[in-house]
Amino acid sequence: MSNILQFVPRCSICQKRPATKLCDFPIATVQYVGHGPRAYHLGYDPRINPKRVITCSKPICDKCSVKSGNFDFCKTHLKEGNS
Ligand SMILES: [Zn+2]
Ligand SMILES: [Zn+2]
Repeated sequence: MSNILQFVPRCSICQKRPATKLCDFPIATVQYVGHGPRAYHLGYDPRINPKRVITCSKPICDKCSVKSGNFDFCKTHLKEGNS
């Protein structure tokens, strides 16, 4: 059991370095009113948390990410955040 290769996702911007983080830029907020869809298999229960922020979640490396407070943004979204 010593030949297991670990899958390391590549950075989606430079495609060279391994991605160490995901972009936290919120692209949408989903809120269910009343009975939400059955998404419990995704670990999501609308009764507990009816509001859900969908983030960019693009895999990015240290060099291609920009830190803003507690969040890491990909370079694409940093421009949008500043405008
Ligand atoms: Zn990169
Ligand atoms: Zn992004």
